[in-house]
Amino acid sequence: MKFADLHLHTQFSDGTFTPEELAGHGARLGFAALALTDHDSIEGCVRMAAACAAAGIEFIVGAELTAEHEDTEVHILGYFLDPENQTLLEKIAGFQAVRQDRIREMVAALNKAGVPLQVESVFALANCQSPGRPHVARALVKEKLIGNLDEAFEKYLKKGRPAWVPKTKMSALEGVELIHQAGGLAVMAHPGLNRTDEIIPGLVDAGLDGIECFHTKHSTATSERYLEIAEKFNLLVTGGSDCHGFSKGKPLIGGIKLPYENVEKMKEVVAARHSSPATRH
Ligand code: AMP
Ligand code: ZN
Ligand code: FE
Ligand code: FE
Repeated sequence: MKFADLHLHTQFSDGTFTPEELAGHGARLGFAALALTDHDSIEGCVRMAAACAAAGIEFIVGAELTAEHEDTEVHILGYFLDPENQTLLEKIAGFQAVRQDRIREMVAALNKAGVPLQVESVFALANCQSPGRPHVARALVKEKLIGNLDEAFEKYLKKGRPAWVPKTKMSALEGVELIHQAGGLAVMAHPGLNRTDEIIPGLVDAGLDGIECFHTKHSTATSERYLEIAEKFNLLVTGGSDCHGFSKGKPLIGGIKLPYENVEKMKEVVAARHSSPATRH
C-alpha cells in the first residue's frame, strides 16, 4: 500500500533536518509522497523537491501558515502551492520580517532581564528566514545561559514570562485566501491540539478544503472525531507526523502513514480547479 506524510519541518523553519536528510528518511520508510510544511516558509521546497525526485518520492509544495481566528491561534496548511506565486512570496516575506522583528524584541527583553544573549547568535543559529521561539531557546542553551530547552521556555519564553512577545498573525480567512490565490488547498492543521471545533464552520464558509485528521498528537478517538467532521463538512482528509527532526525529542517521521488515496483526492480537487477556475470557492 502507498502512503504519505503531509506535515514535515526542516531547518528552513524550526526542524533540525535538512531537506536531503528528511527525504532520506522518507525513502528509508517507504513513503510514496511527502509534503514539506515549514512555518511561514516555502524556502526549503526547491531542495526538498530535488531530494525527493532523486529518491523516487512524489513531492508536494506546502507551508504551515500561522494564523488566528476569533483570538485562537490556528495553523493553516497549504498544499500544491505555486512556488512562484508573487503574492504568496510577498506575503511570506512580510510574515518572515515580523518573525525576525519579534526575535529582536525577545532578545531585547532578555537583555533587560539581565540575560546577555546577542541577537546575532540567534540569527546565526536559526540560519533561515522564518525564526521562532525554539531558535531563541536553542541559542540560550548553546550560549550556556540556560540548562535546557524546557527551562528556556519555562523561565523566559512562555506566555507571562519576561521575554514573551505576542505574535502578530494573519487571520485564518486571509490564510485560506492566500493559499487559494496561489493555487493551493487550505487545510486546518492538528485540530485536536487546539480543541476549537467551533471555529470550523466559519473556516469552511471561508473555503477551507481539508482537515488534518491524522497527526502524531491525535489519539485514535480524536482522529475518528475529525473524520466525522470531515465527512459532515465534505472536507478532504489529510495527515502527517509534524516531524521536527531532533528538536522535540525523537524524529516523528514514520509515525503517521496517510493512505495515498487521500493524496489522490486532493489532486483531483486541484485539477478540477485548474480546469474551471470559476467554480473555485
Ligand atoms: P513561536 O511560534 O515562535 O511562538 O514558537 C512556537 C514553538 O515553540 C512551537 O513549535 C512549540 O512547539 C515550541 N514550544 C512551545 N513551548 C515549548 C516548550 N516548553 N519546550 C519546547 N518547545 C516549545
Ligand atoms: Zn514548528
Ligand atoms: Fe502547527
Ligand atoms: Fe507543524
